[in-house]
Formats: sequence, C-alpha cells, structure tokens
Amino acid sequence: MKAMVLNKLTSIRENQRPLDLTELPDPVPGEKDILIKVSTCGVCHTELDEIEGRTPPPRLPVILGHQVVGTVLELGSQVSAHQPGDRVGVAWIYWTCGKCKFCLAGNENLCSDFKATGRDADGGYAQYMTVPQDFAYTIPDVFSDSKAAPLLCAGAIGYRSLKLTGLQDGQRLGLTGFGASGHLVLKMTGHRYPNSQVFVFARNPKQRAFATELGAVWAGDTEEESPEKLDAIIDTTPVWKPVVEALRNLEPGGRLVINAIRKEDVDKDYLLRLDYPTHLWMEKEIKSVANVTRSDVTGFLELAADIPIKPEVQEFALEEANKALVELRTSKIRGAKVLKID
Ligand SMILES: [Zn+2]
Ligand SMILES: [Zn+2]
Repeated sequence: MKAMVLNKLTSIRENQRPLDLTELPDPVPGEKDILIKVSTCGVCHTELDEIEGRTPPPRLPVILGHQVVGTVLELGSQVSAHQPGDRVGVAWIYWTCGKCKFCLAGNENLCSDFKATGRDADGGYAQYMTVPQDFAYTIPDVFSDSKAAPLLCAGAIGYRSLKLTGLQDGQRLGLTGFGASGHLVLKMTGHRYPNSQVFVFARNPKQRAFATELGAVWAGDTEEESPEKLDAIIDTTPVWKPVVEALRNLEPGGRLVINAIRKEDVDKDYLLRLDYPTHLWMEKEIKSVANVTRSDVTGFLELAADIPIKPEVQEFALEEANKALVELRTSKIRGAKVLKID
C-alpha cells in the first residue's frame, strides 16, 4: 500500500517535506482487529506536534493520522462488532487497557496505557489501516466521508472541551483560536445553549470574519478585551499568549479550558505577564483537556447528525499530505483539511 510515513522528527519551518511517500506491505488484522480501506483522513495540528517532537511517537517510522473514515475490508477471527463493507470511523483513541480505575470509571482518556491512533499505532495517512474492533464507530449516513473525517478529532475533542467548561445556557462563552475545532464548537454551542453568546479571539482577520459569519456576536484579536466578561473560554491555540489574555477576560469563578496536547515554547516568556489579581484571583480556574473517550466520539457524532454540523473541508490527495501540513502550520485555514485517499 501507499503511505505517507514519518521517519524522523524534524522542524516544519526548516523541512517542508517531513513525511515520505512509501510503498509498504498491507497491514494484517490481529484476532480482535478490523482491516479498513481508508477513504479520508483529517489533518490535525497534533500531527505537527508529533513531527516536531512535542508529543513524539514512541517508535519510528510511523504512519500519522487519527481522523479516519473508511470501509471494513477484513475481520480478525474474533471480531463480531463489524461486517465487511461497513463504513467506520477511527478517532484519536486507538486502545486503552479497560481495567484500570480510570477505564472502569469511564475516564478511559486518562488511562496510563492510552494508545493514540497515528502516534502509538499506525494511522490513516495510508491506503489501509487496522484498529481494535471496539475502537471503530459507525458514521451517521448524513455525512460524506470527507465531512465526517474532521468530526472525529476536532469535533469530538471540541465536544469534550465544551462539556468541561461546565457552561450553562445563557452564560457567555469565549473561544481563543478559531481553527477546525473552534468552528465546530461554535455550531454546537448554538444548538445546546441557544441563549449563550459566543465571543471569538483570533489573530487572523479572515478567521475573525469567518467566526462572525458563523454566529459569533463579537470577534477580536487575541489580546483585545472582550466587550463583556466571559463565564468560560476554550483555548485551542498552540501558544501561551492566548492563555494569559483569556484569563483576563474571564468572569469571577470563570473557567479556562485548554484544548491543546502540548504548548510550544516560542512565546513562553509571555507567562511572566501573569498578574495574580488580574488573571487568577476571584476563583478563576484552568483545566486542560486530555484525549477523548469513545463516548465523546459517539456522543458528538449523534449531536453533529442532529444539528446537523457539516464542516467546511479542503481536500488534498494522500501525496499532498506535506503541503496540507505546511499550510496548517502557516495558518492558511478555513475549515478543516482532509486527505482523500484512493
Ligand atoms: Zn486531532
Ligand atoms: Zn486503563
């Protein structure tokens, strides 16, 4: 099969071709795995974190990609949950132990043995992949393969982030950073919290225009002060300035939810501007979002079909994965980038 393979960690600023197009043997499913013919795979900021070593794969080479849609081709001998020909999706959660206290309590996203798709196991930047049967999901019919792919990461983790804000209908929500996850959260908020207003902070004027087009009541630059204080803010940026600026815009008792697997060090000195009375006093909270659970994925897919959410996507061929990653790095983003694989 054809795959775009990560052979060594590198900086995308210096190396605009981090992945190598490679011919590999087709993967063989284990007893409890299914073999999937990949149709589409979303391109996520987390891939940049993997390539640049902020969340490095434990072994190389590895095939990236954790927003996978495809068709079941073959079943392992003990698979009962799927049939050949079924359309399925695979998300960031590839496998967890199922036995630890976190798994047993439904917090499998916190499992210390958590294995991530496209980091700890080969993912969807390829013609085929295998996945344990319990970690593949039926995709609602309303979504095309391309529009379903970004829902599996940006959507599911956006869903989890929104849940972790503890927002109540009528409260004001801020979003700092407005990429794939932000635009999905904006649509979800309108549906679940019809009386809540959404305020967006983004450094790119095009992203701000896109946000107001989608229903945000206000959009400003990262360091602008929002016209009103906000009850919760979700940060989806890879850097620190938005964290400090968001804390300033929170109501007393407000919560900042950081949805980022890692933060970059480029502007870490911005944290020195943190002023306790301005940014933290009055019971302001900070919470991070780690991974997703299977119920986040299925819950979000149901909600997305219900609303319905149809993300804007920009398609690339598998061979163009490097181009898609470089554009993601340089923030040429409107909606979500998806590899279309034949
Ligand atoms: Zn992702
Ligand atoms: Zn576990």
